[in-house]
Amino acid sequence: MSRQRYDVLVVGAGHGGAQLAIALRQAKYEGSIALVGDEPELPYERPPLSKDYLAGEKEFERLLIRPLGFWSERDVALLPGKRVVAVDPAAHEVGCEDGSRFDYGKLVWAAGGVPRRLSCVGGDLPGVHTVRTRADVDRMRDELATVERVAVIGGGYIGLEAAAILAKAGKKVAVFEALDRVLARVAGEALSRFYEEEHRAHGVDVRLGAMVDCIEETGGRASGVRLADGSVTPCEMIVVGIGIVPAVGPLLAAGARGGNGVAVDAQCRTTLPDIFAIGDCALHSNPFADGAQVRLESVQNANDQANVVAKVIAGAETAYDAVPWFWSNQYDLKLQTVGLSIGHDAAIVRGDPAARTFSVIYLKRGRVIALDCVNAIKDYVQGRRLVMERLEVAPDRLADTSVPLKEMLP
Ligand SMILES: Cc1cc2nc3c(=O)[nH]c(=O)nc-3n(C[C@H](O)[C@H](O)[C@H](O)COP(=O)(O)OP(=O)(O)OC[C@H]3O[C@@H](n4cnc5c(N)ncnc54)[C@H](O)[C@@H]3O)c2cc1C
Repeated sequence: MSRQRYDVLVVGAGHGGAQLAIALRQAKYEGSIALVGDEPELPYERPPLSKDYLAGEKEFERLLIRPLGFWSERDVALLPGKRVVAVDPAAHEVGCEDGSRFDYGKLVWAAGGVPRRLSCVGGDLPGVHTVRTRADVDRMRDELATVERVAVIGGGYIGLEAAAILAKAGKKVAVFEALDRVLARVAGEALSRFYEEEHRAHGVDVRLGAMVDCIEETGGRASGVRLADGSVTPCEMIVVGIGIVPAVGPLLAAGARGGNGVAVDAQCRTTLPDIFAIGDCALHSNPFADGAQVRLESVQNANDQANVVAKVIAGAETAYDAVPWFWSNQYDLKLQTVGLSIGHDAAIVRGDPAARTFSVIYLKRGRVIALDCVNAIKDYVQGRRLVMERLEVAPDRLADTSVPLKEMLP
């Protein structure tokens, strides 16, 4: 029996996968394209899941990256509800969980990651939720009416955004963070302390250095969080935001180099022939991290890597060197970040956190490598070039809010 063959087969119909197909058609690529995805929906935006979609303020249709007609008009085949479980690089073929198989010319792996689960006793009880897919959030929303107390495990962006929405909805929220500050993996101390205080001011019980021992159970459901110190916080819902595990199993099994993600070069090629990887699962050398191997979990990275691969497949020369940026909305605070603060050796606070509009500017060996801007859009826009050009600016000038950042450009 002849199998369906696509010139470009994309595994994962999320941000990266959708953008790849969009960019290929924009580049006038005429080959056949298919998006295989294990979720049932059309490609949709993930950031609102922990923000206005969780709050019930945005309909799912408004999350769609493009409406249904867009894909058919551009002859992009959507193959939803299919999970790729095997890749045969020599035969240029993939196999799905449901037994279907497809041949490809080029394979683009854009499978993102799966939320890391709690490994402790009770970590998989009903009432314990992760926030990665529409289905995850629909399950939470279905339960919320009967929930008064929520425990959020993990003080990263997703946990804190969910905490903000749930606190605003009138729930009694506690956040448990194992480290001694929230956002420790992604931001400097000044930003962490600011967000801690904001959450406390909104009634959220922020617990730092909190080691979860197990999830308590009552009547077959999660009913509380027990910490290593023996204390128990009762709740009806638990939200776990402790990171993702990159979804790269079939690629690594097929021999691709990787570990924490699949290793790619500057054109997002894996070590397997005709196989690219983009987005959350792509382990790449990033010029904004001094060339260190990183995985970035952001819409910017997924989209920009998709654009690179689309150009390469369409025959152009290019390399991934986009400046990283990210945003997070909590309460009325709009955080915008540019650059990567990993490895900074100084952090300058510009503006007054108490006034709820300020930026933290990160330096490495005297050069600007990143900015976190809270309700400070001008700093974000003007600071971008400081990061892109890694400019050297004296700390006292950076801290001086009477001088716009654009005046510090050469
Ligand atoms: C709740 C939440 C809030 C976020 N907020 C922000 C934000 O404010 N700003 C920001 O920049 N980023 C944010 N992000 C991160 C951003 O959404 C991701 O970085 C982005 O979605 C990555 O795109 P991707 O294509 O790599 O993966 P995804 O968008 O996750 O798409 C991967 C798709 O592949 C599917 N898949 C996995 N394995 C297989 C398989 N074997 N076969 C078929 N399909 C498979 C997955 O189910 C999924 O549909 C947020 C993420 C979440 C979860």
